[in-house]
Amino acid sequence: MDCIFCKIIAGEIPSSKVYEDEKILAFNDINPMAPVHVLVIPKIHIPSCDGINEENSCFVKHIFEKIPEIAKTAGITNGYRVITNCGEDAKQSVKHLHFHILGGRSLPENMG
Ligand code: AMP
Ligand code: ZN
Repeated sequence: MDCIFCKIIAGEIPSSKVYEDEKILAFNDINPMAPVHVLVIPKIHIPSCDGINEENSCFVKHIFEKIPEIAKTAGITNGYRVITNCGEDAKQSVKHLHFHILGGRSLPENMG
């Protein structure tokens, strides 16, 4: 499958890893929008939020259970924002479910 994040999971494309276990991978965004900008992805191909269902939601549950630890490991000490873009209007550019963790500075109030 021609998915850049599946290739990162397979080790075919390098990434700057922050956290990894059997279900999920967290790595630094290549084009950071904040001093800390980490992406957290499931190790199965779910195209977006729209693809979450009863069979795969355990991966999403696990991501949210690990986000506090990942944020801490990435150096965030004063709060962070978790964002996922789903579909065209949200400007989702990579069609593999991912959660952005943004922090390391005071973030703008405007969300869109
Ligand atoms: P989105 O616009 O929500 O789909 O976010 C996709 C994110 O993936 C963007 O912030 C990109 O900078 C990031 N990205 C794309 N390719 C890579 C890569 N090879 N390594 C790390 N981050 C990437
Ligand atoms: Zn994928």
